[in-house]
Amino acid sequence: MKTNTDTNRKGKLTPLMQQYWDVKSAHEDKVLLFRMGDFFEMFHRDAEIAAPVLGIALTSRNKKAEDETPMCGVPHHSIANSINKLLQNGFKVAICDQIEDPKFAKGLVKRAVTRILSPGMVYDPDTLDGQISNYLASFDHESVSFVDTTTGEAFYFKVRSLPRKLALLAGLQPVELVLSQKEISGFSAGPSFDPLITVHDGLLSVDRELPKSASRLLAYAVHMQGEGVLETLSPFEERDLLDRMELPATVLRHLEIFETYKGETRGSLFDAINRCKTSAGARLLRQWLQFPLCQFESIDKRLDQIDFWVRNTTALKEIRKSLAKLGDIQRRIGKLGHPNCHPRDLLSLAESLAAGLDVVSLTPNLQWDERSKQDAKMICDEITRTLVDEPPLQMKSGGFLRKGMNVALDELIDLATNSNHKILQLEQKERELTGISSLKIRFNQVFGYYIEITNTHKDKVPKDRYDRKQTLANAERYLTQELAELESKVLSAQTKKVELELEILAKLVAQTLEKSQSLLLLARQWAELDVLTSNAWLALEQRYVRPRFVDNGCIQVIGSRHPVIEQVLDLPFVANDIELPKGGCLLLTGPNMAGKSTLMRQVALTCIMGQSGLFVPAAEANLPVLDRIFTRIGASDFLSEGLSTFMVEMKETAEMLESATANSLVVLDEIGRGTSTYDGMSLAQAILEFLLVNKRPLTLFATHYHELTRLASEEHQGGSEKRYPQLLNAHMSIHEKDGEITFLHQLVGGPANKSYGIQVGKLAGLPSWVTQRASHLLKNMESHQSSPASPQLSLLDFVRETEGVQNAELTIERVTDQERDESSLNKMDLQVLEDIKGLEVDHLTPMEAFRRVVDWKESLN
Ligand code: ATP
Repeated sequence: MKTNTDTNRKGKLTPLMQQYWDVKSAHEDKVLLFRMGDFFEMFHRDAEIAAPVLGIALTSRNKKAEDETPMCGVPHHSIANSINKLLQNGFKVAICDQIEDPKFAKGLVKRAVTRILSPGMVYDPDTLDGQISNYLASFDHESVSFVDTTTGEAFYFKVRSLPRKLALLAGLQPVELVLSQKEISGFSAGPSFDPLITVHDGLLSVDRELPKSASRLLAYAVHMQGEGVLETLSPFEERDLLDRMELPATVLRHLEIFETYKGETRGSLFDAINRCKTSAGARLLRQWLQFPLCQFESIDKRLDQIDFWVRNTTALKEIRKSLAKLGDIQRRIGKLGHPNCHPRDLLSLAESLAAGLDVVSLTPNLQWDERSKQDAKMICDEITRTLVDEPPLQMKSGGFLRKGMNVALDELIDLATNSNHKILQLEQKERELTGISSLKIRFNQVFGYYIEITNTHKDKVPKDRYDRKQTLANAERYLTQELAELESKVLSAQTKKVELELEILAKLVAQTLEKSQSLLLLARQWAELDVLTSNAWLALEQRYVRPRFVDNGCIQVIGSRHPVIEQVLDLPFVANDIELPKGGCLLLTGPNMAGKSTLMRQVALTCIMGQSGLFVPAAEANLPVLDRIFTRIGASDFLSEGLSTFMVEMKETAEMLESATANSLVVLDEIGRGTSTYDGMSLAQAILEFLLVNKRPLTLFATHYHELTRLASEEHQGGSEKRYPQLLNAHMSIHEKDGEITFLHQLVGGPANKSYGIQVGKLAGLPSWVTQRASHLLKNMESHQSSPASPQLSLLDFVRETEGVQNAELTIERVTDQERDESSLNKMDLQVLEDIKGLEVDHLTPMEAFRRVVDWKESLN
């Protein structure tokens, strides 16, 4: 970041700026926060980068002088938020602090970089969104690994294929990707996620079985935060994709699982169904939704527990009250590994543990690990026994330990707090011994404590005990051995007290870290309980039911609802019954806005929720265990990648047709829409037929190509059997009266009788000129289809026929001549065609044929 101009200035730098550059030159790729007094200052390019990100003023040092320097700063006590903003904007940050007390510094205060931070190695986890994990990720040729140092979560997948690695990365959205120099070459993250990429070649192997990518993450975490971080991480867990339903990032996006198309959490499935009381619970719910289960037993295990809570509402209320007091226990444990861990962090942890232990005592039937319970109790007691209830924010003066917990500390506290009293006692004693009533003990920074005696009483000074230090115009200053001893005790008491307090605090942190694995285990169980009870609460609140998983490949949902839309609609949501036999395909037609997309999405969401082990929005649900869900919904543009909407659609469809199996659910919404009608329709039909014949997944297929509905009744050539028996026509019904339509949002068997696009346009407020003209054109096209010779309705005729559209007539006057020409030209064309059709070629002589051609040519001209 340093510019040449910056370097050139080095020659005439002040000692402070010289010190700054010495540090900065070792951290050119980071924003350097340089401690000066109560502020962390940034200079030059760093200041220019940080000021707009932090929304603070960019000022300058040595204004208008030759060495004017851009700068900006943040108060040291509010540094956490500023650092977090810089990290979230993809910058790395180096904190350069004062490493000696300025009071005792001789010359320039010593400074050094005390922390380096990156998006994946944050300064204060409290500044992050609690519901989202903050993953560091890495991959090698056979694995992808993830670590969240703020929560201790660490896991890896054994995957060899690069597209699958990329799919996992795109799905889990790490904030920082740590790769070796070799891996980084040729890697491109793709448009759907954009992490900071860090090169780190080191490896730290704590276990020989651990894949390289995991070792790389450990090495990087230690490099950034020191060895302490290792104690706050859970052991790496291998996660298997085999017993998980695969939900690629495109499906998560299409179904708006975690965020809407606009990138907002509000309106997503997660937001609609999250009733967790803790952030750890919310993060776990996200994981459950992202990796639904594929085994009946594991799904049922979760459902059994939710079922229990649904039936025990009094206990459910109690447990949710206790869970609400738990706080973010995982991030509280994570903070213990930070160099800036504060006594208040330990107290918050103790509070969490106490609330968690209440949860444990409320649920004696659950299997809580005995050892972990004891450890949690011990740590909780130790913290509350050691620390005062409200430790001061600033740790430099101590005052965070309770009196009575350490004898040496008590003595020091006594000395430090009673020093004034002790000095006064000594003063009184010396007055009595010397008989000098004006004798005073005073203090200054240069001499420390001294006895001051005015010249009037000089003769009474006991020379054997009093050592003269300074002579003033009207007084003398002395020191006695007793005063010197008292001074050193008093002055060092404060320093010693702080040192001892820090030492005891460090022991307490170490003792807690020793038990971190027990605490993380409990934290995980509490998070799980939070998700389960949250879903039970939701089930009661929104009338959800327990899905049944049946091994017959059918979907049968009675009274199905859309979990998000039903919560935002002012009107009641219309529930629908959906039945899809094994390998069945529901071909959905019906007007725009009738609810086709909603219905298809709600089926997919119900399957995802069910396989995540959650209750679902329906009156009854019998579901299969799906291996994958494929979706092609809505428009997602990757214009930055040079892909048009249609190209994206075709790419996603190609992947779907390649990978879908008989155990998959395929959701296709208006496939083929982005090209010409015949192109689109042909593609849609071919895709549908391919699925029906080759892959036979459960399919929901919504289309405006009504022509496709014929396929459901088509029979094998020469036979009476249906060609596609598993293809079922259905439509979303509407009510039509006097050309006005009302959406009923009800799923009904059979194809829709027409498309109602014009009526929907009318509802949407298109000018009546447009809708009337469209109706005429439609009528004309329809009759044209049945009898090709029927004349087209000209624009002029239309305008003349249309009552009360005078203005329109004026507007189109200019084009009517051309219109008339086009119209008559069409008639000529048709005449020629008729002639050709009626021609008996066998009876024509070559000359006659030639003449006819000349005639036609003339009439066409
Ligand atoms: P298009 O073909 O234009 O995409 P569509 O048929 O897919 O339309 P949806 O987008 O699914 O229609 O639904 C349109 C709106 O209708 C929804 O946003 C919702 O407000 C309402 N809606 C859909 N289904 C229902 C329902 N079952 N009950 C009540 N309202 C519904």
